Amino acid sequence: PKWVYNFGAGEAEGHAELQGKQEELLGNKGANLAEMASIGLPVPPGFTLTTEVCSHFVDSGSYPEGLKEQVQKSLQTLESRAGCKFGDSENPLLVAVRAGGRASMPGMMDTVLNVGLNAKTVEALAEKSGDERFAYDSYRRFIQMYADVVLGIDSSHFEKMLRRAKQKRGVNEDHELGVEDLERLVRDYKTKVFVELGAEFPTDPQVQLWGAIGAVFKSCSSSRAKTYRELHDISEDAGSAAATVQAMVFGNGSGPDSASGVAFTRNPSSGDNHFYGEFLLNAQGEDLVGGIRTPAELTMQARLAHGNTLPSLEERMPKVFRELVAVREQLEKHYKDVQDIEFTIQKGKLYMLQTRAGKRTTHAAIQIAVDMTNEGLITKPQAVMRLHPSQIDQLLHPTIREDAKKQVIAKGLPASPGAAMGKVVFCADEAVQRVNDGEKVILVRSKTSAEDIHGLHAAEGVLTTCGGMTSHAAVVARSMGRPCVAGAGHLEIDEAAGKLKVGDVVVEKGQKLTIDGSTGEVLLGDVPTVVPKVTGAFRTLMSWSDEYRTMQVRANAETVADARLAKDFGAEGIGLVRTEHMFFVGMRITAMRQMILASDTRDRKDALHRLLFMQREDMTELFQIMEGHPVTIRLFDPPLHEFLPNTEAELSYVARAAGVPVDRVRRRATELNEANPMLGHRGCRLAITYPEICEMQTRAIFGAAVEAGRTAPSKKFPVVEVMVPLVASVGEFKIIKQIIDKTAAAIQKEENVNFEYRVGSMIELPRAALQAAKLAKHAEFFSFGTNDLTQTTYGLSRDDTGSFMAEYKAKGIVACDPFVTLDEDGVGELIKLAMTRGHSTRPDMKMGICGEHGGDPTSIDFCQRIGLNYVSCSPYRVPIARLAAAQSAL
Ligand code: ADP
Ligand code: MG
Ligand code: MG
Repeated sequence: PKWVYNFGAGEAEGHAELQGKQEELLGNKGANLAEMASIGLPVPPGFTLTTEVCSHFVDSGSYPEGLKEQVQKSLQTLESRAGCKFGDSENPLLVAVRAGGRASMPGMMDTVLNVGLNAKTVEALAEKSGDERFAYDSYRRFIQMYADVVLGIDSSHFEKMLRRAKQKRGVNEDHELGVEDLERLVRDYKTKVFVELGAEFPTDPQVQLWGAIGAVFKSCSSSRAKTYRELHDISEDAGSAAATVQAMVFGNGSGPDSASGVAFTRNPSSGDNHFYGEFLLNAQGEDLVGGIRTPAELTMQARLAHGNTLPSLEERMPKVFRELVAVREQLEKHYKDVQDIEFTIQKGKLYMLQTRAGKRTTHAAIQIAVDMTNEGLITKPQAVMRLHPSQIDQLLHPTIREDAKKQVIAKGLPASPGAAMGKVVFCADEAVQRVNDGEKVILVRSKTSAEDIHGLHAAEGVLTTCGGMTSHAAVVARSMGRPCVAGAGHLEIDEAAGKLKVGDVVVEKGQKLTIDGSTGEVLLGDVPTVVPKVTGAFRTLMSWSDEYRTMQVRANAETVADARLAKDFGAEGIGLVRTEHMFFVGMRITAMRQMILASDTRDRKDALHRLLFMQREDMTELFQIMEGHPVTIRLFDPPLHEFLPNTEAELSYVARAAGVPVDRVRRRATELNEANPMLGHRGCRLAITYPEICEMQTRAIFGAAVEAGRTAPSKKFPVVEVMVPLVASVGEFKIIKQIIDKTAAAIQKEENVNFEYRVGSMIELPRAALQAAKLAKHAEFFSFGTNDLTQTTYGLSRDDTGSFMAEYKAKGIVACDPFVTLDEDGVGELIKLAMTRGHSTRPDMKMGICGEHGGDPTSIDFCQRIGLNYVSCSPYRVPIARLAAAQSAL
């Protein structure tokens, strides 16, 4: 079998045969290098050992037969393309050995640069380039990387020696060291290796090459790489890596025309169509990402905007800049997506070292999808498919209120948008610990590295004092949707003392801090925030989604504020008004308790009267807000225990309000106590035993509807749907429907109006699902209450899953929490059955779901597949549902 694929000189081996399988076989990096080579971009030649080699190596500990020969052959091809020879003492080829996973995992796996250097080849390199400092700089880099990645000697030892060398020389930066300093460093590095290992640093280039290849394959199973995959939902299968061996090009040459850089073809934070990147002169590899020096900007525009005093690439090397701009255009045309690129300039010549789809904020992703559609790069449906619905959750995160009092203590780069507030911590472990204790934290670091990801994940937001928009913290925060302010250089971290200082302001560990990742501001204390509106590109993308969507999206809402928000977010009606929720607030709960605790019908009617007065007002507003769209109102449903008074004070409060002795109320409360309230006297059972509740509620609903209809500009009566909760039998439904119809008729007569309405049944008990054919004779619509239906199908209370659900998931008994993602095999089967039976009686019957699942993209896809008419979810999830429904319709 073929284990190795060459690329370079305008070609990529196997390009045609591998169509669609390149990433799987060559890894993300190898595939894209080959792709870039094949479209004629300046890529140093090389070859890639496939992920199958990696799997073989990881499983058996050895290389497959024939690999060595194939590698030697590819090496020869590489030598002839590069015009130099590996290990040659006059014209040596140096290579980079680079890891690439199937899925892109930036910075997670190891790379060794400058492979092939030894005492002889370093001299040849110096001779050939006429740049001795550069040759020895490459050599010391090589030993340090190789020792770290292949020999397992912590690089901090070498860092320390490097720091000391700089101190001794009195310089700040690596590239300021002289040849002798570097030669001495190389000697010291080798000695350190000998001391640690009891063996010489390998001098044979072939040994070095295979050492590096082996290490690359091992790095894909490192714990760092595993954590990354876990956090990004990348399967372990996709974790196997390819190894790319590629000719080195050098950005660390001494002249003014060697540099290495990274760029995004568009701004990854705002989505603006501006070329966005940074570079460092006389630098190699990770110098830039490591944030050791302040980088220069690519464009003059960005330089001016950020107040960077270093000349931009545009100003310093205009010709290379123009070439890079052309590459940018070619890449976007080819990939039809934003690219994140790495490049190196060797003596004024540009080389492309990597390209991949750029990680971006949701905000940017939307802007880019819409822009690219308008530019004709992609189609509208492609734009709609570009985002995962759960991503837009980010946008519905709070931003700082405009009129908020702000005390800005520092300003950094706006690296990942959104406002976040939390207590200051300085280390990742503490972040995790505090979050586990229920606190919110802001992780503050000078810079972050792969070791900090768990902390970044736990934190509300991240603040760094060093590094740019492409630093580790910025990249990771964006991909996780955490707000991030990077490179707030005026802040001084005193980790030992647990303090953050700027001027005479001191913020202690544990004190509250707010960061605004959209502006880069760092603010003292807890600053009030607001939820944003759907505007601009977001609005456009949402309206495109609506063009393709076939299912309706409604909201679960009962307060006026929620209904307005839902409408703003594009809800096409309300799918669930939980009437009892209107009474959780303030004084109203007393009236509610009074009603529940009343010992006779008269008392109950008194209390009801008050309640329904309030309810009618609320409902009138809901109807007005949702003008023209359906509003589905559920009759009282609460398990009574949710409303029973808990304390003596509450008891006497209720007694006083009702004008009855406390003892009577207390006795009644005891009577009402249930062993299992979720399965007790609730739902339509309340309406059966206390018909006056149902009657009064119906009065409130239709009273409000008449009122709303009269005041509506269109004078149209609202689309009212009344639904009955927790129905188990047709008998229940019939009795309740009679009450509703009778009351509605009475109101029509009193008010001298005619109106239409629908009465439907919730399907949230298995028995109701089974009885659907009969229920449909009387019910005019079905609403699947998937929360209760999941509880009753599983025989599992959703508040009691905590103690075992994680283990169920770990053991593979359930794929995901059935209260988050609808259980298709069980609950889903019941829904399908009820739909079929219901439709057999009433073919055009409308059916939808309400409950948490209505906002979950996977569950929404299920609803689309089985042909439900609508989903209803919390207002904040309405945009998510709109996008998810569009995607599953496409
Ligand atoms: P990662 O997956 O961490 O991005 P890479 O394989 O891209 O690792 O290597 C890290 C850095 O090493 C690159 O950003 C680039 O600067 C440098 N590098 C990689 N290959 C070469 C090469 N052929 N010549 C010069 N520098 C290289
Ligand atoms: Mg890279
Ligand atoms: Mg329910």
